[in-house]
Amino acid sequence: MDTPNKFLVVTPHPDDAEIGCGGTIARWIIEGSQGVLLVCTNGDKGSSDPDMTSEKLAGIRAKEQANASKLLGLNEVIYFKYPDGELDESSEFRERIVKNIRKYQPEVVLCTDPIRQSFYIHRDHRVTGQVVLDAVYPYSRDRLYYPHHEEEGILTHKVKDVLFWGSENPNEVIDITQYIDIKIDALKQHASQLSNMSSVDGWIKSSACRSAAENKYEYGESFRRITFRP
Ligand SMILES: [Zn+2]
Repeated sequence: MDTPNKFLVVTPHPDDAEIGCGGTIARWIIEGSQGVLLVCTNGDKGSSDPDMTSEKLAGIRAKEQANASKLLGLNEVIYFKYPDGELDESSEFRERIVKNIRKYQPEVVLCTDPIRQSFYIHRDHRVTGQVVLDAVYPYSRDRLYYPHHEEEGILTHKVKDVLFWGSENPNEVIDITQYIDIKIDALKQHASQLSNMSSVDGWIKSSACRSAAENKYEYGESFRRITFRP
C-alpha cells in the first residue's frame, strides 16, 4: 500500500505498537508521513515484581513509551491513562478516539485486531480494536455523532484504511527490511516488559521473516486491512 500522508496508531498498552507495527511506523515517518500515537492504558499491571506498585510502574512505562516513540520518530504521543485491564466499550472511550481521528485526520489507522478464534486475546486488545473500528466507521464520519466537536471546530473525517496488527487473517504485508533495527531498538526501550533482552532480536526477526515469507524482501509486518474508501 502507498505511504499515507498522515496515520494514527492506537495501542492498548505501552509496547504493543512497537511489536505490531514499529517497523511500519519507522518506515512511514522516514518516508515523510506524519504519525500520532494514542496510548490507551498506562500499563500499570504488567509486573510480577513483589516490590512494584501500579503507580510506580505507570511512571516507568510512560518513560519507556516516550523513549520508544522518540526512536520511531512519532510526531506526537497522547496518553489516555486508563488503568491496565479496565478498557470498556464506553461512549466516553469511543468519543476520545473519534475526537483524535477528527482532529488529526489520518488516512490510515492502525490498532490491534479485536477478533481472534484460535487463541485468547487480551481484553484491552479486543476492546481497543472494536472501539477503534466503530470510531472510524461510522462515528468519525457522521457529524451528528458527538456534535459538540463541530462547535469546537473539530470536523468529521473519513479514514481510508484500518490496519489491524496481531491478526490471524492478514491480507497486507509491509516491507520493513530497512527498518527492523529501529523496531528492535524501540521495543527494547520497554525494558520493564522484557525478561530476556538478549532474545528480542531473535524473536522479532523470526516473526518479521515469517510475515515476509511470500515476498522477495527479508522482513515484513502483516496486517488485516479493511478499506473504507479508495
Ligand atoms: Zn498489550
